[in-house]
Amino acid sequence: MTTSLPGAPFFHYRDGQLHAEDVPLHTLAQQHGTPLFVYSQAALGAALDAYLQGFAGRQVSLHYAVKANSNLSILRFFAQRGCGFDIVSQGELQRALAAGAEPGRIVFSGVGKTRAEMRFALECGIGCFNVESEAELDVLNEVAQQLQRKAPVSLRVNPDVDAQTHPYISTGLKGNKFGIAHERALPAFQHAASLPWIEVKGIDCHIGSQITTQAPYLDAMDRLLDLVERIEAAGIALGHIDFGGGLGIQYRDETPPSPHALWQQLFARADARGFGQRHFMVEPGRSLVGNAGVCITQVLYLKPGQDKHFCIVDAAMNDLPRPAMYQAYHAIVPLAQAATAHAAAPQQYDVVGPVCESGDWLGHDRQLQVTPGDWLAVCSAGAYSMSMASNYNSRPRAAEVLVDGAQSRLIRQRESLEHMLHNEMLQAS
Ligand SMILES: *Cc1c(COP(=O)(O)O)cnc(C)c1O
Repeated sequence: MTTSLPGAPFFHYRDGQLHAEDVPLHTLAQQHGTPLFVYSQAALGAALDAYLQGFAGRQVSLHYAVKANSNLSILRFFAQRGCGFDIVSQGELQRALAAGAEPGRIVFSGVGKTRAEMRFALECGIGCFNVESEAELDVLNEVAQQLQRKAPVSLRVNPDVDAQTHPYISTGLKGNKFGIAHERALPAFQHAASLPWIEVKGIDCHIGSQITTQAPYLDAMDRLLDLVERIEAAGIALGHIDFGGGLGIQYRDETPPSPHALWQQLFARADARGFGQRHFMVEPGRSLVGNAGVCITQVLYLKPGQDKHFCIVDAAMNDLPRPAMYQAYHAIVPLAQAATAHAAAPQQYDVVGPVCESGDWLGHDRQLQVTPGDWLAVCSAGAYSMSMASNYNSRPRAAEVLVDGAQSRLIRQRESLEHMLHNEMLQAS
């Protein structure tokens, strides 16, 4: 059998063993221990190509959203393939720079940038601040004046479209903390244009995450272009139109449009209104890395219950926070297919971690044929997993491996106890 995981063709069974490209995952579990994140470089490349194909003949810059997966080797991969970056903190900026990013191709998003972060970003020559409020604009103007260095700015507007995704990852509706309200956009741009240390570069939006239909994007394009027309009619030229990220991936049975298909539609809208040859920017995160990674975990115990059976594994909500945070679904599959494993009876389990929280689960009601010691892969774990990991319950963060063909390289060591305790002092007497 050579079946592959949902939405993840570079993770597939070969002779009953789950592989990442040409590397059998059980060999990595043996070598590095678990929980272990494994990424496929070919999958990263294919996800990027899916965007680039859709941009042929257009003027588009792609900025990878660092928060989806901020491992230095992943960032370097995207930097070497010519991507810019979308960052939301000084820490992410420093990561991107450490990975070799050009500062001029980095955009700085986020509703709560501090003065220190603004200063640092200005000094390193950031490409653009995606400003999210009028108050932020004034502070940035002050910081820029202190440094005697103009701040390149795009204003993030809230197009007020429903991304039809989970409320916690929907960002483009009224009543949401992100962006400047649609009706405040023109006055905000006029204010920006009047500030001596602000240089208006463009406009941006980001309507949400894990968006699996085209409609919200098409609405956002219409609403954004309405604003562009109004702002430019007021004499403020916009050098770029940044459309944000948010395209969904297949975790289970979702059928998100390909970036290519989506942008064909979006460009058709833009063409119809005479904007097709403008400089567009995109900021994808999840759709570049989500299905390029899995998390390998080992079964510790099987615990039969009256109503439910539990499969207790060594990965937990601190490693994979999405189920606890958003009740997100991740497929969970064995590394060894049943035919080549032992003959445990298939059972329905809740797959849970060792953390002392009832919210610590990875999957509910999963049909699995497992015994303690078996390895499982939590699928689609390349995005918003390791980058959200914590030390809750004083659990060291997992190791990460990047596979390229038949090669595998450790790209992050498992956290040590020394590292975890490093910042703490023994003061009580
Ligand atoms: C999180 C974020 C992105 C990336 O979103 P994905 O859903 O991972 O594609 C892009 N732009 C901004 C401003 C963000 O906050």
